Amino acid sequence: MLSIKNLHASVEDKEILRGINLEVKAGEVHAIMGPNGSGKSTLSSVIAGKEEYEVTDGEIFLEGEDIGELAPEERAHKGVFLSFQYPVEIPGVSVTNFMKTAINESRKAKGLEEMPANEMLKLIREKSELLEIDRKFLSRSLNEGFSGGEKKRNEIFQMAMLEPKLAILDETDSGLDIDALRIVANGVNKLRSKDNAVVVITHYQRLLDYIVPDYVHVLYNGKIVKSGGKELAYELEEKGYDWIKSEN
Ligand code: ADP
Ligand code: MG
Ligand code: MG
Repeated sequence: MLSIKNLHASVEDKEILRGINLEVKAGEVHAIMGPNGSGKSTLSSVIAGKEEYEVTDGEIFLEGEDIGELAPEERAHKGVFLSFQYPVEIPGVSVTNFMKTAINESRKAKGLEEMPANEMLKLIREKSELLEIDRKFLSRSLNEGFSGGEKKRNEIFQMAMLEPKLAILDETDSGLDIDALRIVANGVNKLRSKDNAVVVITHYQRLLDYIVPDYVHVLYNGKIVKSGGKELAYELEEKGYDWIKSEN
């Protein structure tokens, strides 16, 4: 699904990613952990194609296709989804209308007609039921006055609607409260399938109690310095990151 080879990236001439190699197969969940400032958010931004980062070496493949030169929208249309760390408020645009626009824009980019209204309603109903989202929420104005948990719910709903091949969830270092954590985890677990892959980026182990990863990688100083199974997350929780720092 995702294959990253010797990825180097800089921002303002400062090298942040210093040779990342990562293979994520369909059906897998990978967690990327690491101390603050190690480059986790940079990695997610670079995969999504954000333009403030300059890729200076290496390659990113999605299902065997080199996507390294594509614009963020093109990557999104090919199935890359990056959760928003700072969601925008759009007063006057309901959650439902935002989702309709997102779906139709994605279809347009693929040369498809707009989704017929009845099909759209069916999709919205199906996904909102799956994620236990109530009707009242769907008619609210996007992110306006949303709690942390509601923002996450909306984000996961958007992911469910778009059915990405590769979902990258980058949690802010401030962390999520326990409700938001459960919402994200339940949503991700329901959306997991053999045809998609998830990369969860987190500073803390606790999210991984709910979303159990197949692999855990530690990013430090722009490199993956350790990889293992889910037990690695517990080891990090117990020992902190200092031993990683002293070994590298
Ligand atoms: P993490 O998510 O692991 O905490 P980041 O990827 O956010 O780490 O940051 C890694 C390093 O890159 C930090 O030193 C940070 O200051 C720097 N950095 C990231 N994005 C930018 C940017 N847009 N402009 C300048 N420096 C940046
Ligand atoms: Mg940080
Ligand atoms: Mg970060």
